[in-house]
Amino acid sequence: MGLPAPPQLGTSMLPPDTYRGKVVMVTGGGTGLGKAMATEFARLGAAVAIASRNTEHRENGVRALEELGAQAIGVALDVRDDAAIAMTFDEIEAQLGSVDVLVNNAAGNFPSQAVKMSANAWRSVVDIVLNGTFLCSTEFARRAIEHQVPGAILNIGATYSWTGGPGTAHSAAAKAGVTNLTQSLAVEWAPKGIRVNCLAPGLFPHNDLPPVLLARQNPQADGQRIPAGRVGRPHELGWAATYLCSPFASYLTGHTLVLDGANWLRRGLSMPDFVPIDEQFP
Ligand code: NAP
Repeated sequence: MGLPAPPQLGTSMLPPDTYRGKVVMVTGGGTGLGKAMATEFARLGAAVAIASRNTEHRENGVRALEELGAQAIGVALDVRDDAAIAMTFDEIEAQLGSVDVLVNNAAGNFPSQAVKMSANAWRSVVDIVLNGTFLCSTEFARRAIEHQVPGAILNIGATYSWTGGPGTAHSAAAKAGVTNLTQSLAVEWAPKGIRVNCLAPGLFPHNDLPPVLLARQNPQADGQRIPAGRVGRPHELGWAATYLCSPFASYLTGHTLVLDGANWLRRGLSMPDFVPIDEQFP
């Protein structure tokens, strides 16, 4: 039987104006899960800034939010570039007002055997996922502290933060850093009115994944291998994100919420068939 399907896309969990008058910045918000989260913030009244490298991604994201009647802008940003981050915040402030909520969603995502991983691949993923999260978060916090306004940060983690996993040496190590960073920043910034949480998605298929991952995607079959009996729906992640950053979670900080249908907990002494890394990612 598995876990029941969630309410339909478009259903509201929080009061309709929860984010009215608020500015939400989502890195990598033009595709996949970032776009799904941006959509739920927009549905609840937020003005949304999508910050990423690719113009087409940003335009697709902005169009989807505008179709909901939301105010949305796209801003060019590579989260590895600390000077550009400050300019991005300036641009969002000029167009929408100061950022109230930051979602650190941008990530590099290409599985590779560790022995075949170039130094550049390693550095690039760590730079985007861990360094990008740190740089965007500190820029956000410096401004909120200076203006004496409260704020919320949501980092996007992954369950292989705790387990590691084949083909993910770079990403798993970087996500582990993000989970840990969430806690340090939460305790440093609670006195300043800034909350910092993390959301660790399980398997959430979508059509914006890179080709190598898209080719491996089979939501029906993948769902049957998850204790919940199904994969996650991107809008479920959007609901969790909007809750964690909302005033309804105002005593919740430093927490990593796992949304994965109990998938990462099924490891035991008896494991599914072992497939060597050479066969998984030749
Ligand atoms: P995705 O569609 O590939 O999204 C990644 C986004 O990051 C893209 O919009 C990309 O936009 C942006 N990005 C990449 N490098 C960037 C950079 N240097 N600067 C700024 N933006 C950058 O992947 P996704 O599946 O939606 O993943 C979203 C988040 O969920 C990631 O943090 C991922 O690790 C996490 N996650 C996903 C799953 C899943 O099942 N899908 C599972 C666990 C965790 P541009 O190309 O326009 O820069």
